[in-house]
Amino acid sequence: MNPRFLMRVLERTDLKTKLRLAKVIPKLGSGEEIVKCMLCPNMCLFSCPVFDAERRLTVSPSVKSRIAYFGGEEAIYHCLPCNACKENCKMGISVNENLRRLRNGKYADKIDSWLSKISKRVEEREGRILYFPGCRTFESGLIKSTLDYLEKIGIDFALSSEIVCCGMPYYEIGDKRYEEHFSNLKKLASRYDAVISNCPHCVFVMRELGIRAEHTLSLMKPLKIGGSISYHDPCVMARNLGLVEEPRNFLRACGFEIIEPAFSAKQTSCCGYGGFYRILYPEYADKIAERRRRQFEAEIATSCPSCKKALKAKDIVELLLEVL
Ligand code: SF4
Ligand code: SF4
Repeated sequence: MNPRFLMRVLERTDLKTKLRLAKVIPKLGSGEEIVKCMLCPNMCLFSCPVFDAERRLTVSPSVKSRIAYFGGEEAIYHCLPCNACKENCKMGISVNENLRRLRNGKYADKIDSWLSKISKRVEEREGRILYFPGCRTFESGLIKSTLDYLEKIGIDFALSSEIVCCGMPYYEIGDKRYEEHFSNLKKLASRYDAVISNCPHCVFVMRELGIRAEHTLSLMKPLKIGGSISYHDPCVMARNLGLVEEPRNFLRACGFEIIEPAFSAKQTSCCGYGGFYRILYPEYADKIAERRRRQFEAEIATSCPSCKKALKAKDIVELLLEVL
């Protein structure tokens, strides 16, 4: 961080603020990105689903960066890992990534109780490829369809009940338990040739950990179905994994005519159910989902369990299973 900027800030603050800054600044690394956001006239505001739902400037990208910088706590949890700001920022800055460094695990107990409610044991089986459903696949009920589909197309897959969640919600909320999740996931994955998952966020986390991971879409085979359909791009699938054309090509190969919604591909609009946001603020997450749903004119297909649940959409695997 520019020392002159820091000196000016310190000169103008009282002791209480100085003490808060002393806690925050070391966590910011160079701090340059958050300072750029603080000084920005909220150029990505139009793309932020949280601001759109909550309609308060205090949760807008630039203002929550300012609040976070000066030690404010609440605003840093009002964010999704959607990276719409990053997609629309001339400097490629992700507000969520900046805020994540400042979160300290407050509310992690809410993740615990949510996880214990949705976790179910699976019947273990051996195979060369591990199918890792991820917590959201359990929550959305997509697990049964996926297991049926993999069985029917004859994939030799393994299932393990050792780990339900990849650890991403803990990572996002700044709770150290993510380290244990990541390490257990790496150990588990090392016993297999590769891992497949329905959840784009799980795939992203695994790839970041050096695990050979693919989205289940990569194993699916198109079947003739036909008709019109809209495709909702899950944020992480489009922006982090870069899978934009692949699901569309797959749906076209199934004979679908694709009707694009107003916001699609990397300019997709978040469903509101990502990260921990819905666990903490369900009423706003539902509002984001409802707004996104209204942007579609045809039945919605998607490839993420969270988006499926939020948008009452059909996962591609469910479309295939109907005709298999
Ligand atoms: S992410 Fe970019 S556009 Fe958005 S507030 Fe920060 S600097 Fe401005
Ligand atoms: S990551 Fe998403 S929710 Fe968070 S500030 Fe950026 S656009 Fe808004």
